[in-house]
Amino acid sequence: MSDERTTEGPGGHSGQSFETLAIHAGNTADPLTGAVVPPIYQVSTYKQDGVGGLRGGYEYSRSANPTRTALEENLAALEGGRRGLAFASGLAAEDCLLRTLLSPGDHVIIPNDAYGGTFRLFAKVVSRWGVEFSVADTGDVAAVRAALTEKTKAIWVETPSNPLLGITDIAALATVAQGAGAKLVVDNTFASPYLQQPLALGADVVVHSMTKYMGGHSDVVGGALVVNDPDLAEELAYHQNAMGAVAGPFDAWLVLRGIKTLAVRMDRHSENATRIVEMLKSHPRVTRVLYPGLPEHPGHEIAAKQMKSFGGMVSFQVEGGEEAAVEVCNRARLFTLGESLGGVESLIEHPGRMTHASVAGSALEVPADLIRLSVGIESADDLLADLRQALG
Ligand SMILES: *Cc1c(COP(=O)(O)O)cnc(C)c1O
Repeated sequence: MSDERTTEGPGGHSGQSFETLAIHAGNTADPLTGAVVPPIYQVSTYKQDGVGGLRGGYEYSRSANPTRTALEENLAALEGGRRGLAFASGLAAEDCLLRTLLSPGDHVIIPNDAYGGTFRLFAKVVSRWGVEFSVADTGDVAAVRAALTEKTKAIWVETPSNPLLGITDIAALATVAQGAGAKLVVDNTFASPYLQQPLALGADVVVHSMTKYMGGHSDVVGGALVVNDPDLAEELAYHQNAMGAVAGPFDAWLVLRGIKTLAVRMDRHSENATRIVEMLKSHPRVTRVLYPGLPEHPGHEIAAKQMKSFGGMVSFQVEGGEEAAVEVCNRARLFTLGESLGGVESLIEHPGRMTHASVAGSALEVPADLIRLSVGIESADDLLADLRQALG
């Protein structure tokens, strides 16, 4: 990658607010036609003007593609990082990160309510290559300290976490990681950079499943890494090309388009979630509501400190156990029964049997009576009515 395509960090966009960057960073008008939206460069290779004479530095689309570059510049600006990298999926981004950071014998601390696919990547894939991991409650700084070994190279954090909406103090763990010579990795999928900026809080790497809030319309699978350290950025870019799980041009374009409305969508997701949480709190069939916006949530104060608002993910437990929870999911009409999250449409799911079935019996098992909502941006009144009828 030539330097002209290396994304500048916050300095390069100084003074501009998030909403402006979301729309403009990376989105320069097409030099050929003036098109205000970056075209989908659906192309694999580029004509050279004489051997080695690249126009604009592009030679092969695994290495770099202009639509992907636009997205990568945008990602870097939104997270306040020096470099953004776009991948075919969130897990592809994680895989690239792990194989860049880790060697056989290294140790990683992962959260006790990690995304199921992240846990599977550690337990079934990376562990076969001699990387060790231990599971800790990352919401408890002392527990993370206790899990450190001489070999710990990374502390992995998801905040808010999935599906229990646990909160981890990013700044506190950045200090712990620094002291241990380990990298702090924050999966920022649930918050999005609009609500939370881990690099500014001291994290070394931000991970995204862009499939969720970044894309925002349930029409694309993608992943991202954003970093500040120039050496780590170079290493990751090297591995991104060497491993090859890049975001395709159309997928990159869809995410870039989705990001333009990220700020307004996240505001609405948070507002609707707050209304729903209020209703659930007073509903006789609901035994517990998990939402970092609730004052009684154990991570509330930290969430209030490190997040702009509390996001669109809500989990709750119902009386009657697993069967009752499954029934509520099946009765929902406007809330679509489905996995994934972060789209404009509201989703409902039963983590125990759906997204988190693969962690049954492990340290990451979730309560059987738990229901997870991805609250969309429809009318809050319609969403409330649907949940009330589903709860019966
Ligand atoms: C979905 C998700 C991932 C994995 O991303 P994919 O795009 O599905 O590969 C990782 N972390 C979190 C928190 C997620 O929700």
